[in-house]
Amino acid sequence: MAPISTLREQRESIEQQILSPVATQSAHTQGRPRPETECDIRTAFCRDIDRIIYSKAFRRLKHKTQVFLHPEGDHYRTRLTHTLEVSRIARTIARGLRLNEDLTEAIALGHDLGHTPFGHAGERALDELYFDGFRHYDQSLRVVDRLEKAGRGLNLCHETRIGIHHHTKGADDDPLEARIVRLSDRVAYINHDADDAIRAGLLTEGMIPSEIRTVLGEGLSERINAIVTDIITQSTDKPDILMSHSITEAVTAFRAFMFETVYKDPIAKGEEVKVRDVLGGIFDHYRANPIKLPEDYRNLIDEDGLECVVKDYVSGMTDKFAMDTYADLFIPASWQIR
Ligand code: MG
Repeated sequence: MAPISTLREQRESIEQQILSPVATQSAHTQGRPRPETECDIRTAFCRDIDRIIYSKAFRRLKHKTQVFLHPEGDHYRTRLTHTLEVSRIARTIARGLRLNEDLTEAIALGHDLGHTPFGHAGERALDELYFDGFRHYDQSLRVVDRLEKAGRGLNLCHETRIGIHHHTKGADDDPLEARIVRLSDRVAYINHDADDAIRAGLLTEGMIPSEIRTVLGEGLSERINAIVTDIITQSTDKPDILMSHSITEAVTAFRAFMFETVYKDPIAKGEEVKVRDVLGGIFDHYRANPIKLPEDYRNLIDEDGLECVVKDYVSGMTDKFAMDTYADLFIPASWQIR
């Protein structure tokens, strides 16, 4: 009689039957920084998904800017809804290509955990403030490897960690699931940022050049569907994640259009100069007064250095927490309108 297998082992054997030969198999993970006993129910990558969703950094994404600084409207994307849209696009592509959906989802959900408050304006500010520069993808890895669980990190699988770290700039040996997330991130943000820009009155659908709309279609849904369908069609049974020439050209033109009209727009960017002063004030305060850092962060100073830990604390703040902190530190209470 065959030995009784766990639900996880059954799932791993289903993966071996249904996934593409180029997929990453959960059973063949390169493992975690600290070895652990496997779960009887969940595969290694399912566990990574759960660890990310239960992390504090994941909950903070709700109050972090995507593009529009501290948006007033309820319908603008935040870093959290961006992350969820990336995850959906990436999972659809992974399923279409018979790649590992769970690994894809884990990478997508974790990819922006290191994002600063105030979107890329905050990232640029911290890049100036921290002596070693600041890149959100390095910080995303630091969040999962070190900062969560009071310095112990989430102990994620190697493939998830590499995918998170490489989500902006890839490497030749990245798993295909990581390449899907890298592309899905771009597909998600150019489309939802255009949608939000239309909502904000910065753009109209008709302002998007007709050569882009002819190839990709009209509106968010048509365009994402066209790109996802193309990626699946072009990449089936290939050792890479590909797009056709015409879709690649249209996506590149769409992204360039977004940079010209929205990402550099003076209305969306109007507050950016203030972000440097707000984060700079907070950064200098904690560097001069490390005793005021929360205990979990203070405990890391001996090993990681004060500047690094201040950078960790400030970059982890949500937009609102950073503004409240700034107000508490620098604005007389009687002047504050909350
Ligand atoms: Mg992203």
